[in-house]
Amino acid sequence: MDSDPIADRFRLDRVGIEPCPGCGDPVQAISAFGRVWHECPRCAEQEKQQRRQREKIDRALAQWAVVTPPTYREKIDRSRIHPTIALAMDLDFSSGIGLVGPSGIGKTRVAFFALRMASARGLLPGRVTAAEYREAVSLRHSGAKETASRAEELIRMAKWSRALLIDDIGKGANTPAGDEAFYNLLEHRRAEKLLTFWTSNGGSGWLRKKLGADYGPAIVKRLVDLATGPDGYRIFSTQEET
Ligand SMILES: [Zn+2]
Repeated sequence: MDSDPIADRFRLDRVGIEPCPGCGDPVQAISAFGRVWHECPRCAEQEKQQRRQREKIDRALAQWAVVTPPTYREKIDRSRIHPTIALAMDLDFSSGIGLVGPSGIGKTRVAFFALRMASARGLLPGRVTAAEYREAVSLRHSGAKETASRAEELIRMAKWSRALLIDDIGKGANTPAGDEAFYNLLEHRRAEKLLTFWTSNGGSGWLRKKLGADYGPAIVKRLVDLATGPDGYRIFSTQEET
C-alpha cells in the first residue's frame, strides 16, 4: 500500500513505556505530530485537582467582591488602622478572629481583609451583621413569601458560608428570641468548625450586659471559641475588659 503523507503526519505511535517527566512513574509514551506525550494517570489526576482548586478560589474571590462594599475592597492603609486591630492582619487567617473596639478604628476593614485572605484559599465567603441575622430569624416565618424566602436564604448563608464575617455584634436592640437564634448560629459554626471572623463595639463585660443574662455569657463564650486558634485567643481589643 502506498504511504499516505497526511495519515503519516497524524499517525499516533505508541513508542513504549517511559518514565513520566512529571512524577517518574513508568507510563505509556505516545508520539504524534512530532511530539511525545506521556499518558500519566497520576499527573492527570493532580492537574484536575489543581484546576478544581483554582476554580474554587476564583469563585470564592468573585463572591468576596459581591459581599464586600466598594470602600472595603480598597487596599488597606495600615496607618489608618488602630495598631492593636492592625496586629490581626499579620495572622494566617486559618482560624477565626475577633475584633473589639469603638467605631471608626478599622475593625470592619480588617475583617473584610481577613475574609479576602480566606477566599484566596478557596473558602466561599459570606458577610452578615448580627442585627441582620436577628431580623432574618424574626422574618423567616413571615406571611410574605418573598420576605420569608429571603430571610431563609440569609440564615442558610450565615450558617454554612465556609468563611463568615459577623459584623457589629451587640449593636441594636436585643430580644430573647434573637439572642437565642444568634447563640444557635455561633454554636452551629463552632460545632461544624467553620471559619468565623467577628467584630464588636464592646468587650466581653459590655456584651454580657448588652445581651442579657440568659444568653449573654453563653454568646461571649462561643465568640471566644470561634476566635481561638492553635496559637491561642485571636481577639484583638482596644477596650479595657471589665
Ligand atoms: Zn506523572
